[in-house]
Amino acid sequence: MRTYTLIAPAKINLYLEIIGDRPDGYHELVMILQTIELADRLEIRCNGIQGIQLHCNHPLVPLDQTNLAYRAAQLMSQEFPEAFGNYGGVDITIDKQIPVAAGLAGGSTDGAAVLVGLDLLWELGLTLPQLQRLGEKLGSDVPFCVAGGTAIATGRGEKLDPIPDLDSLWVVLAKYQNLSVSTPWAYQTYKKQFGETYLKDLKNIESRTSQINSGPLVKAISQKDRKKIGKLLHNDLENVVLPEYSQVAQLRNILQQAGGLGTMMSGSGPTVFTLCNSQAEAETIQQKARQEIKDPDLEFWVTKLSSTGIQVASV
Ligand code: ATP
Repeated sequence: MRTYTLIAPAKINLYLEIIGDRPDGYHELVMILQTIELADRLEIRCNGIQGIQLHCNHPLVPLDQTNLAYRAAQLMSQEFPEAFGNYGGVDITIDKQIPVAAGLAGGSTDGAAVLVGLDLLWELGLTLPQLQRLGEKLGSDVPFCVAGGTAIATGRGEKLDPIPDLDSLWVVLAKYQNLSVSTPWAYQTYKKQFGETYLKDLKNIESRTSQINSGPLVKAISQKDRKKIGKLLHNDLENVVLPEYSQVAQLRNILQQAGGLGTMMSGSGPTVFTLCNSQAEAETIQQKARQEIKDPDLEFWVTKLSSTGIQVASV
């Protein structure tokens, strides 16, 4: 029986602006998302029984229906009951390399990988837009994770507009291993503190959303103006996460002082990243920051920006 191995990369947010809330409880967002090479590896194979079995090497990753990889398999079995019946159940093994609850879309990318993997395993021949529409049902970041690259994401994050790739840049990521930030907490706190600034009118929301296309960061990205890109990084959620988590604020300052093109928190944190011109620059920044903060709980990754989403590694 065939086994597919899939590479499921993480993402960072080059830009995250909260412009309003929505009746469905989500926020109206304007983001620029970027795939990085740091990735989980998933193995998917038919198990010959009518069930979904999940295995993972990371103790903090749930193995039940709350796991997005599990939910993706469940969704596929409901959408394609005939294929599920013909091929039987699936075994999914996640080799977790992306830090958990880190603002890097680790769960979403695993969900995206299972959609792509089952499409191949069950020979469904789904198109990229079809896979992304299925992804929308699992979570806001899943459609982006399927395709990857560099993209403007609006709505809850599911409406995507790809822009020129930035894959020649490097990035240093830093995160305290035992520190996680709840995404719902970050958004709820932001709403409590800044809800008065939210745009209410649909017209205003649409107009603000469309402004990003002609905005300075998208211009800098299409012109590959690295210095400007670094200066224009932005994340509204820093306004609530940094005051509450002083360790993250300190880490951000130290990384920023260590050099590179620009430093920012990714998503709802607590991962902080610095964009760099080269691998050598990224490694120097990592060493400088390590010397400043001598805490064994602090982890670093040096990786590249990437232009691809879910990839098949082997059959
Ligand atoms: P996002 O950037 O999309 O907000 P995140 O990177 O902050 O996500 P995840 O790594 O996806 O966060 O983990 C958030 C929570 O989701 C975890 O605490 C875990 O309980 C749950 N979870 C569900 N599926 C997975 C998965 N496949 N990998 C990791 N965590 C998962």
